[in-house]
Amino acid sequence: MTDTFPALVIREGDDGPASALEQLTDADLPEADVIVDVDYSSLNYKDGMALLGKGRIVRSFPMVPGIDLTGTVASSESDRFSAGDEVILTGWGVGERYWGGYAARAAVRPEWLVTRPEGMSAQTAMSIGTAGLTAMLCVLALEEGGVSPDDGPVVVTGAAGGVGSIAIALLAGRGFEVTAVTGRPEHHDYLRSLGATDFRDRAQMTGQPKALESETWAGGVDTVGSTMLATVLAQTRYGGTVAACGLAGGMDLPGTVVPFILRGVRLQGVDSVQVPLAARERAWSALAQELSPDMLDSMTTVVPLSEVSDRAQQILEGQVRGRTVVDPHR
Ligand code: NDP
Repeated sequence: MTDTFPALVIREGDDGPASALEQLTDADLPEADVIVDVDYSSLNYKDGMALLGKGRIVRSFPMVPGIDLTGTVASSESDRFSAGDEVILTGWGVGERYWGGYAARAAVRPEWLVTRPEGMSAQTAMSIGTAGLTAMLCVLALEEGGVSPDDGPVVVTGAAGGVGSIAIALLAGRGFEVTAVTGRPEHHDYLRSLGATDFRDRAQMTGQPKALESETWAGGVDTVGSTMLATVLAQTRYGGTVAACGLAGGMDLPGTVVPFILRGVRLQGVDSVQVPLAARERAWSALAQELSPDMLDSMTTVVPLSEVSDRAQQILEGQVRGRTVVDPHR
C-alpha cells in the first residue's frame, strides 16, 4: 500500500475555489529536486488571503497553500542538500504559484531553501516564518538608513500582528525605545512584554494627516499602509527612515512628498518573497541570535490543519495576536 499524508488543498469547484483536508501520496506532489518532510508551517496575512480567495493570490488549482515551511530533507537530487538536513522555506511564490507548507510533505527547489540555524527548533522557525524574516528586513532597513537608538523613539504599526510583534521584540532588543500602534488596547500588556514602552491608538493614526506633523519618530516599521503610513511619514523626524512592508489597512498611500523634500525622510520598501539567498541567510542568523524561543512561544498559537481556514478568516479581520504555527500532522 502507498503511504498517504495529510494536506490542505484548494480546488476550483462550481462555486469557486474551496479548501479541504485530503490524503495525498508522493505521486500527487509536483516534480521537484528536493522532498521535505514538513514539521510545521505558519499562517501569515497572505495565507489568509490565499485561503479565502482574496487578492488573486492563488491562480492555479489544485494548490496546497502555506507560504512558509520547515522540516527535514527526505531526498535530494541537489548538491546543496542531503537527506536529514533541516531546512526553512519562505516566500518565492510557494503557497501561491507552487505547492506550499500545509501538507506533511513538500516537493521544492533547492534554491528556495535556507539551512535552519543551529539550535533553532522547527516550531521556533515557524513562529518566526515570513513575518519574522520581514520584521528583520525592516529593522535592517532602519539600520541601513542610519537610525540608531540615540536618535529617539521608533514606531511600529499593526503592532499586535505577526510582523509587528516580532519587529517590536527585535527593535527593543537592539536598544530602541518602541511605540506600538494598535487598534486593540487589550493587548497593551502583551506588547509591553515584547518591549514596547509607549502606545498610540490606531484611530489616532489613521485620519488623513497634514503634509507635516510634529517631528516624533526617528524611524518606523509600517505593516498597515494607507493613511497609517502617510501619518508615520508626516511625523518622522528630519533624516529618519520608514520601512514599509504591509497593506493590512489598504494599499493606497494618501500623503504628500513634503516629508521627503523638507525633512529628507527616507521611505524604504521591504519585500520578503524575492529577497536573495545571501540576505535571507544573514537575516535568519540574526533572528536566531536576537529572538528568545520563550518569547516567541509566548506570542505563538499552534493549530492543526483542520483549524487553518477559521484562523484565516480571523487574520484578515485583524483578530489574530502574534504568530500562528500550523502543525500538518494534527
Ligand atoms: P497580521 O494580521 O498578523 O497583522 C496585521 C495587523 O495590522 C493586525 O494585527 C492589526 O494590528 C493591524 N490591522 C489589521 N487591519 C487593520 C486596518 N484595517 N487598519 C489598520 N490596522 C489594521 O498580519 P502579518 O503580520 O502577517 O502581516 C502584516 C502585513 O504585512 C500584511 O499586510 C502582509 O500582507 C504584509 N506582509 C508583507 C510582507 C512583505 O514581504 N512585504 C511579508 C509579510 C507580511 P493591531 O490590532 O495591533 O492594530
